[in-house]
Amino acid sequence: MAKTGGKGLSLARRLYTSRTLGLALGLMCVSAAMYPLNPAPWVWVVMLFNAIVWPHLAYQWARRATLPYHAEHRNLLVDAFLGGVWVAAMQFNPLPSATTISMMAMNNVAIGGLRFLLAGTVAQILGVGVGLLIFTPTFIPHTSPLQLYACLPLLCLYPLALGWICFRQAITLGRQKRELLALSRTDSLTGLLNHGAWKDQLEVEFQRCQRQNQGGAIALIDIDHFKTINDTYGHVAGDIVLRQLSKMLKQNLRAADVAGRYGGDEFCVILPDLPLNSAAAAMDALRDRFATLGYEQNPALKVSLSIGLAAFNPAHTDATLWLNDADQALYEAKTTGRNRVICCSDGKPRHELLDSV
Ligand code: GH3
Ligand code: MG
Repeated sequence: MAKTGGKGLSLARRLYTSRTLGLALGLMCVSAAMYPLNPAPWVWVVMLFNAIVWPHLAYQWARRATLPYHAEHRNLLVDAFLGGVWVAAMQFNPLPSATTISMMAMNNVAIGGLRFLLAGTVAQILGVGVGLLIFTPTFIPHTSPLQLYACLPLLCLYPLALGWICFRQAITLGRQKRELLALSRTDSLTGLLNHGAWKDQLEVEFQRCQRQNQGGAIALIDIDHFKTINDTYGHVAGDIVLRQLSKMLKQNLRAADVAGRYGGDEFCVILPDLPLNSAAAAMDALRDRFATLGYEQNPALKVSLSIGLAAFNPAHTDATLWLNDADQALYEAKTTGRNRVICCSDGKPRHELLDSV
């Protein structure tokens, strides 16, 4: 999959901070190892360039690249290669060399896992090879106390900084994951639960009713002649009606009730712990309120609802049968004249429940 500019840019920003810090601390470590070797002035110039100028140059390079992610991958290889050169230049002085190699390896693993680690190691070996051609190929087996102290800031502070950057990234990823999950469960037009998410809730409620032997009801709500509304007033007006109904559901239901958009002009509600006649009264009040609603843009627009309601039935073996009852009741409401609530109890659609409330 192609890496996007956005992802590459955020990587470049993260690396800018860690590279600036790591190379500044690395300068102390490398220059303490190089000083006793009396290097030529140009070596000091290259060392200062690598530690102070390169982090800014690398960042600008990545920022301006068409694919910043690839540019940063290349920059990391340059880091590893130069690290290898310095290891050879320090004549493999144990502590500064091990510090340089391990900090680079940590960086590569943190950014790109095993793949970056392997590529970085190859670049580092190449750097060592080039270093051996430029500098005297000797091995210094001893690290002086001064050189040890010069390595400590890099050893202590860099892992802390990298750990902090990784932690912040994990927090951001966790937040984005939660946001994506919420988005995947939400209907974008109405902000209610979408079909799949609502059915998950129905399953949970069904099992709760079975476990606790409690009653509850579900409602399927369908807008009457919605196609005609679209055809007469346009789809934008149709969308306003859908949003208006979802707003009304959010405002008029109890906090425990769960409303969703079943699809098209059909909505669905779970009404936990509510006897069927109370649920019928609540749905009828909703139907009544929705029918009297005015629309500023289209004053002539009048909309009614057909609602099918079904009580939890302990005889049902799964939630689909409960939903079928509500569907049957909705069908009855549609075929007996629309703009009404029909309840289904014991598997049969009945009108009289509503008459008794
Ligand atoms: P009935 O009274 O029998 O329910 O008839 P109806 O016209 O309401 O039902 P039908 O199923 O024939 O039409 C539903 C329409 O809803 C058809 C479809 O174009 C429209 N629709 C589905 N989703 C949307 C949407 O997101 N926005 C708009 N504006 N219309 C939608
Ligand atoms: Mg309809």
